[in-house]
Amino acid sequence: MKPIKFAASCVISVLLLTINTSWATAEVNLYSARKEALIKPLLDKFTEQTGITVNLVTGKADALLTRLKSEGKNTPADIFLTTDAGRLHRAEAAKLLQPIQSDLLNSSVPKAYRDPEGYWYGLSLRARPIFYVKDKVKPSSLSTYEALANSEFKGRICIRSSGNIYNQSLVASMIAAEGDAKTETWAKGLVGNMARAPKGGDRDQIKAAAAGQCDIAVANTYYFAKMLSGNDAAQKKAAEKLAIFWPNQNGRGAHVNISGAGVTAHAKHKDNAVQLIEFLASEEAQAWYAQVNFEYPVRDGVKASEILQQWGDFKADSLNLSRLGDLNSNAVMLMDRAGWK
Ligand code: FE
Repeated sequence: MKPIKFAASCVISVLLLTINTSWATAEVNLYSARKEALIKPLLDKFTEQTGITVNLVTGKADALLTRLKSEGKNTPADIFLTTDAGRLHRAEAAKLLQPIQSDLLNSSVPKAYRDPEGYWYGLSLRARPIFYVKDKVKPSSLSTYEALANSEFKGRICIRSSGNIYNQSLVASMIAAEGDAKTETWAKGLVGNMARAPKGGDRDQIKAAAAGQCDIAVANTYYFAKMLSGNDAAQKKAAEKLAIFWPNQNGRGAHVNISGAGVTAHAKHKDNAVQLIEFLASEEAQAWYAQVNFEYPVRDGVKASEILQQWGDFKADSLNLSRLGDLNSNAVMLMDRAGWK
C-alpha cells in the first residue's frame, strides 16, 4: 500500500470509529418513578431536539432504588428520577448518585430545590397543605400545621401513615423549624386528634373527609387537582366539598417538596444525562410538566396550571430540601415514638 493511500484509509477508519462511538453513545437510560404517560412526551421532545434516544424504565420508587443498588457498577441507568427530596437523599446516601456541575441547572432551579453539592435537582414542586370540609370548618379557625395538635381538632383529622415519605418529609421540615422535642409533642397531639388510624393514600384522606369521617385532611396539591379535574365523577364530587388552606403563612410558609432527578454514580452516558436533566428544567419542559402533572413549575416565570392558579399564591417554606433527607431518620423515629401508625 502506498503511504498516501494508507494515510487515507487510516483517516477513514478513524472517521468511522468516531461516527460509531457517537452513535453508540447517543442514548441515555432513565429509571423513573414517574409513570410513563407523565414523562414520555417530554422525552420524545428531547430526542427530537438532540438526537439522543431515551430508554425509559418506570417502576415504584423504592423498587427502582433496590434495583440500582443490586445492579451496582453494572447498572444501565444514567439518571434516577423520583418524587420527594427524602427519597433522593436516600439514593445519595446509598452512594447511587454522583454530583454534577451545571451552570444552566444552577441558574434555573432555585437553591432551596436542589442539593447543595449537585447530587440531585428538583424538577417540579408540590405543596402539602391542609384541606378542610367547607361546610364544617371555618378557614379562620385554621392557621398552622402546629395548631392541628390543638384540642379543638380532636377526632377531626385524616392523614396517612407515618411510613409514607411525604409525611416523613413534613415532619422533618417541622424538626428543622422547631426542633425534635417540640415536634414530638406536636406529633403526639396530632395522633390524639386523628379521626381514625391512618390508612390509604392522600386521595383517600380527601375522600374520607368528604364522606364525613373527618373535617380536615393533609394531602399533596396534585392529588387534589387531579381529583377536581379528573374523569372520575365521584372523586370530583368529593374534592369539591373541600377547600385548600395554606398553613404557616405568617411564619415559615407551607411545606413543599419536589420531584427531581440525579445522575447515577455509575452512569455510562453522563453528558447525555446532564443534558436531559437540563432539558427537563427548561421553560418549555416546565410548562408542559405543570399542565400535565398539576405540579408547580420549579423555576420562576413559568405559569402553573389553571386549577393551581385558582388557589392563589402562597408562601412556601424556604428550607433547603436536602435537610428533609438529613432529618428523615429523626422524623421516622419521632413519629414512631408518638404512636403515629
Ligand atoms: Fe404522590
